[in-house]
Amino acid sequence: MTMMSLVRTLTLLAASSSAFQTTRSVIKMSASGPKNIVVIGGGVQGTSVAFQIAESTSLPAGSTITILEANKIASAASGKGGGFMARQWGDGGPTQTLHELAFDMYEELCPKLGVESYRKLPVLSVSPGGNKKGKQDNKSKNKQLSDIFPTWLDGSIGRVSPLGFGDDTAQVTPKEFVEKMLEYVNQPDKPGVKVVIGKCTGIECTDGDDGEKVVTAVTYQDGEEEEEKVLNADDVIVSAGPWTCQAEKWFDGAIQLPMEGVKSTSIVWKPPTGDDTVDATALFCGEDNRFGTHLEVYPRPDGTVYICGIGGSDYITTSELQDSAFLFDCPPKDDRVEAAASAFQMMSDTYSTRGELAKTQACMRPCPPDAKPYMGRVPGYSGAYINGGHNCWGIAWAPASGKAIAELVLEGESRSVDLRPFNPARYTSQGRGGRGRKKKGLSVGEQW
Ligand SMILES: Cc1cc2nc3c(=O)[nH]c(=O)nc-3n(C[C@H](O)[C@H](O)[C@H](O)COP(=O)(O)OP(=O)(O)OC[C@H]3O[C@@H](n4cnc5c(N)ncnc54)[C@H](O)[C@@H]3O)c2cc1C
Repeated sequence: MTMMSLVRTLTLLAASSSAFQTTRSVIKMSASGPKNIVVIGGGVQGTSVAFQIAESTSLPAGSTITILEANKIASAASGKGGGFMARQWGDGGPTQTLHELAFDMYEELCPKLGVESYRKLPVLSVSPGGNKKGKQDNKSKNKQLSDIFPTWLDGSIGRVSPLGFGDDTAQVTPKEFVEKMLEYVNQPDKPGVKVVIGKCTGIECTDGDDGEKVVTAVTYQDGEEEEEKVLNADDVIVSAGPWTCQAEKWFDGAIQLPMEGVKSTSIVWKPPTGDDTVDATALFCGEDNRFGTHLEVYPRPDGTVYICGIGGSDYITTSELQDSAFLFDCPPKDDRVEAAASAFQMMSDTYSTRGELAKTQACMRPCPPDAKPYMGRVPGYSGAYINGGHNCWGIAWAPASGKAIAELVLEGESRSVDLRPFNPARYTSQGRGGRGRKKKGLSVGEQW
């Protein structure tokens, strides 16, 4: 079982009904004329921040909103992640609000934006079976689950139990959600969000009256030309997934953002030959030692099946990410593709006999040491914010983190989410010692 699925499963058990906190982080706002707002990173998180800013009634008239994206919109994990979400699968800690608020926001936003890949779906836990190949009538053997038992789960499987009946578990294909947010805010009657393709290289500031640095611009390279270009900015939000740690340099070391990129392979199956639809039940599979997998299986409304939890992930360090590791090219591992395909075909005679892979890919999960996202202001800077490191729930939480950061930028405080546990400066005074899963004395969150 991956950390991702282990955590998701464990936190389901620990699900708490604790109401989200309303404590406010109060920050002084300056006068509000039109603003130039730049979001660095066009993944689901950065786009959600830009979308929520564009939709806010607190956005001063005449403001501009720009996403600066190094590669393509949703080209990293936000185009290649699973898109699973679960309202109650938090651990009852600070991120619980993100789970609940975002889940409810997705339900409202997706019909409004015309997102076709969003739907609620049931979830089963499945343990591996024996080595006997061939079609099995698993549905009849699991009569009590027949309403949610997918017909394609017709191979060798072990014990099956329900993890959800589709009330508080859902899915979205993240790339579609990102694209639809941009389409929506770029309609003629909306403020609009411009996308500039270029890699951020720095943030320019002047000295403010009270000793703070004041953001004035973002510098970037557009890949084609060597020359550095400039975007004027009153506010900049760094939302660059695992590469958010590059901001340490942009803010002259005023903030430390330790980050690990967990690089994992995923695969997508075409609809089985001859089938128009594929039963919509997600699977969380137990560790299968024959293949080194712990599959997470997500059938999508377009008839494809997305699979991650393939095992054999690589752990990319902060300094490698600061050097832009895997920013433009993030290849899958062939041996993990083979292992995942074999493990799934063992469970599904349908895919064993009629399955064909549509896509193999890899992407990175952005992981701060304590598994909590970095969300908030950069200390000592006016107009500088971080929104990154949302680990295995970055898609599920995106609407809520976008809303919280939009409130912080435009209103000076987040009304929707208590941002104090996510203070991006929480590692700054402590330095970087003791990073990672072995860190003692730190309250680790739901990732590990
Ligand atoms: C295999 C896998 C499956 C997953 N499944 C799920 C799931 O089912 N549910 C869920 O909620 N989450 C899931 N996740 C996690 C989720 O995908 C991520 O948390 C989320 O996509 C992070 O979004 P992001 O916008 O912060 O980062 P990213 O999607 O990584 O986007 C960051 C963007 O910033 C850009 N960028 C980087 N550096 C610069 C720079 N210097 N200048 C300009 N732009 C820059 C990049 O090009 C990129 O487009 C999964 C992750 C993996 C790896």
